[in-house]
Amino acid sequence: MSVTIYEESQFEAIKLAGKLAGQALDLACRSVKPGISTWELDQIAEEWIRSQGAIPTFKGYLGFPASLCTSVNHEVVHGIPNKNKVLKEGDIVSLDIGVTVKEKVNGKEWNYIGDTARTVAAGSINSQIQKLMDETQDSLYKGIEKCKAGKTIKDISIAVNNVAQKGKYGIVRMFGGHGIGPNYHSEPFIPNWPEYFENTPDSEIKPGMLLCIEPMFNLGTDDVRKLKDDWTIVTADHKLSAHFEHTILVTKDRQYITTKI
Ligand code: MG
Repeated sequence: MSVTIYEESQFEAIKLAGKLAGQALDLACRSVKPGISTWELDQIAEEWIRSQGAIPTFKGYLGFPASLCTSVNHEVVHGIPNKNKVLKEGDIVSLDIGVTVKEKVNGKEWNYIGDTARTVAAGSINSQIQKLMDETQDSLYKGIEKCKAGKTIKDISIAVNNVAQKGKYGIVRMFGGHGIGPNYHSEPFIPNWPEYFENTPDSEIKPGMLLCIEPMFNLGTDDVRKLKDDWTIVTADHKLSAHFEHTILVTKDRQYITTKI
């Protein structure tokens, strides 16, 4: 894997993919309520993406069986939608979606991808859980502020991590943000903890980069486990986790949140 640097002629297609991902996520989030299954949420998102002539990025990616990742309560990321997983009053669920747009730019066909996630509640939740969600989202925007040309990936990690430290949240280390290339995940890895760079060189953020920032904060431990389905990541102590993500296009003079609607 290497870092993909996009040309200005590709920016419109990148923005389109991001916008569709943002809209698909919003539709899925607005559908969350007690009594709906995570499978139904996946169907709603996939149907809408295909109706726009776009492709759900996750479906079949490394064998993932659905268009939407649905991670409920202590599930952190990569939860698989299931007809039997019905949301109850007071559950929280992270919905994560990718949208691919195939476009020919300057005679070359490429996959342009937007990737975005949000954690929402089914029904009412207590103030501690609301705070976890609000502060995880806040850390995403703190990271985005640093996501511009001339800064480094570590600057993003520090900004996200500062919010986690202040709130005394567990920080997931096995996963983090990432670059987006034509085949989806790409370098650089964007960890949510700056100590990562004690052993790994930091890298500069450059115009033309397309980066996903995705904080995952836990109410308890940093530690996570993978379930037997080989996808779902859960907190080791089964305490709640929240997850937010946006895709950011770095241009010469600013950063553009492609997945914000
Ligand atoms: Mg991602």
